[in-house]
Amino acid sequence: MIDLSEKTAVITGAAQGIGLAITEKLAMNNAAVIIVDINKKLIDQRVEMLTSRGLNAAGYQADVTKSDQIEDIFKEISSTRGNIDILINNAGITRDGLLMKMKEEDWDLVLAINLKGTFICTQKVSRYMLKQRSGVIINIASVVGIMGNAGQANYAASKGGIIALTKSTAREFASRNIRVNAVAPGFIETEMTSILSEEVIKKYAEAIPLKRMGKPEDVADLCLFLASDLAKYITGQTIQVDGGLIM
Ligand code: NAP
Repeated sequence: MIDLSEKTAVITGAAQGIGLAITEKLAMNNAAVIIVDINKKLIDQRVEMLTSRGLNAAGYQADVTKSDQIEDIFKEISSTRGNIDILINNAGITRDGLLMKMKEEDWDLVLAINLKGTFICTQKVSRYMLKQRSGVIINIASVVGIMGNAGQANYAASKGGIIALTKSTAREFASRNIRVNAVAPGFIETEMTSILSEEVIKKYAEAIPLKRMGKPEDVADLCLFLASDLAKYITGQTIQVDGGLIM
């Protein structure tokens, strides 16, 4: 059994979707969880939902691209809770379009939230993890960052960047007992993919060897494992949760 008692986990973009599933999973395994998201109303609802079940949860509104906001949050968490043990860099968006027609602002926004946001949160938390000489960082990438995808040049570049960032960070932090891994989901049923038509979803599902879209819980299960001591000899890896979509 995995027991994350005494551990504090910060999860970005956790007010819904994959981030919320990871948050619930870690909390159900006794971690104190902290939701960081841009949507204040949803954060309050989620914290209420978790605490009413007896789970240890709190939330902060912040934009992961704003380094001063993120710095303040980690400072506050450190002073109120002590250690910051787990960071899940999950906040991410899409602004899809063919490269020829892609607006520069859509390129910039996706790279800013997905890639720079991961860098900012990692840099700000590292101050605490390096000092405590322990920590786990999990970056949510995507299979698209490995294989590319027509219509998602910005998103694919941001996720490929996250995979490279993960490896570099893992190398820099390993000597301080901080593990850094990436999780690359395939097609997962969330708000992000709810914009796809039934026809497109059916086509994707047919291409997946396990013949279904993934669920946020499928990703959360892997994150729980990576966050735990069961993964104590794993760092710098990118692990897919994609039903066998790419292999
Ligand atoms: P989601 O349902 O859209 O949830 C993402 C959350 O992040 C939302 O609550 C969103 O708030 C928040 N957010 C957006 N911008 C933010 C910012 N600047 N600062 C803080 N929070 C912000 O997405 P999801 O499908 O769960 O995806 C979660 C992660 O998994 C993303 O990194 C995504 O790229 C990755 N992923 C998803 C899939 C998939 O099939 N769903 C596949 C591969 C990888 P708002 O809604 O208010 O913007």
